[in-house]
Amino acid sequence: MVPTEQDAYTAPCLREAVAMMKMCPLCHSEMPERYNYCYQCGEYVGDTAALKPALSPEAEAQQQQQERVIHYGCLTLIVVWIVFGLWFFFHMNR
Ligand SMILES: [Zn+2]
Repeated sequence: MVPTEQDAYTAPCLREAVAMMKMCPLCHSEMPERYNYCYQCGEYVGDTAALKPALSPEAEAQQQQQERVIHYGCLTLIVVWIVFGLWFFFHMNR
């Protein structure tokens, strides 16, 4: 990260403290990263990734396959639209 002019006026420890803040998804109050529960509403704000059940390799591969299908589907649609648009453009100008 390239330090900006504004960063030069902020103490490194303060910058780190700001970077380590996280926000409660429920009441949007900010608290240090080390907090696991919101001090305002008690909502769990710990590592949410750890809460998610781990995907099996098969399920993960299936998910990736689905994402790839969606990706190429969108790409194909865009290409078709461009080709159709160009065809229509040249057809109209003849
Ligand atoms: Zn909260």
